Amino acid sequence: MKAVSMRQPKALEIVEVPEPKVGPKDVLVELRYVGLCGSDLSAYRGLSPLVTYPRIPGHEASGVVIAKGEKVPEYLKLGSAVAILPYTNCGSCPSCRLGRYNACQHNQTLGVQRDGALSERISIPYEKVYASDALTLQELALVEPLSVGYHATNRGRVAETDTVLVLGCGAVGLGVVAAASSKGAVVIAADIEGSKLAKAEKLGARHTIDLTKGDANAMLRGLTNGEGASVTIEAVGLPQTFRMAIEHAAFSGRVVFIGYAKEDAPLQTNLIVSKELEVLGSRNSLNAFPDVIRMLEGRKLPFGEMISRVIPFMDAAKAFFEWDSSPQKFTRILIEFS
Ligand SMILES: [Zn+2]
Ligand SMILES: [Zn+2]
Repeated sequence: MKAVSMRQPKALEIVEVPEPKVGPKDVLVELRYVGLCGSDLSAYRGLSPLVTYPRIPGHEASGVVIAKGEKVPEYLKLGSAVAILPYTNCGSCPSCRLGRYNACQHNQTLGVQRDGALSERISIPYEKVYASDALTLQELALVEPLSVGYHATNRGRVAETDTVLVLGCGAVGLGVVAAASSKGAVVIAADIEGSKLAKAEKLGARHTIDLTKGDANAMLRGLTNGEGASVTIEAVGLPQTFRMAIEHAAFSGRVVFIGYAKEDAPLQTNLIVSKELEVLGSRNSLNAFPDVIRMLEGRKLPFGEMISRVIPFMDAAKAFFEWDSSPQKFTRILIEFS
């Protein structure tokens, strides 16, 4: 079968690889859509410390079950449309012992520490696939990226009484906006790109703030009666936005960091103490797939807004090239298998 291989940074080719083996508890999934994520771009650019080459990228995948091992339960049928959970968990590290598998110390994500989903077929343990009859295969490819934002709102215990400030409206930030607004919170979305703020508005943000225009800090204070937001969620990964998340959190508020920073950020520890903030990290997602699938199935928000382009599998190299040249232009590129 065919797969996209990153031979080395910036060198993609379509290669022949062996058919995957299907164990007793595995399903064989024929891939239909794979979304390209920031971590795939880092791998392409040679900037990911976790990736070795050659590597098959891709972890935001949907497909159809075409074979299953003898120990796979009845509910997963041949022909089921599924979203794939791309993480592994060792079962014995401190996180796994607490049942927090998303933060496994030895996690291997598809397309990062092991070969990913940009291949015609993949064999995967049945517990890692989630079926939905109601969603399209494009929608199923959005489940993983949306689940990352959804998990961050779970970490911040977002409820309908909250005002949530979301810093950064890339795919992950938009997932936070959608999840927080679906939970009934008032969402303030902030970014430096007007087009991303327009998407945030469609996905449920009540207020949007362009951080490049006017006094954004004063506007943020104005929107929260000078109190700050009860939950702030950082989805950028820059020192400035980590600081803003702490500065604009209300007293006794929750601060959630999803952004993965390339450098350390000096933080205002006096504010963390005097406001008694809870500062929480958020990584991957835990048990969020069923909730995200339900949110998508409700079709209350135009999730299709997240898909910027659909590009055929055979043109995957071109997709990476275009994305690398102008990353701001795209929220999600989906690679389509015909
Ligand atoms: Zn991703
Ligand atoms: Zn573990």
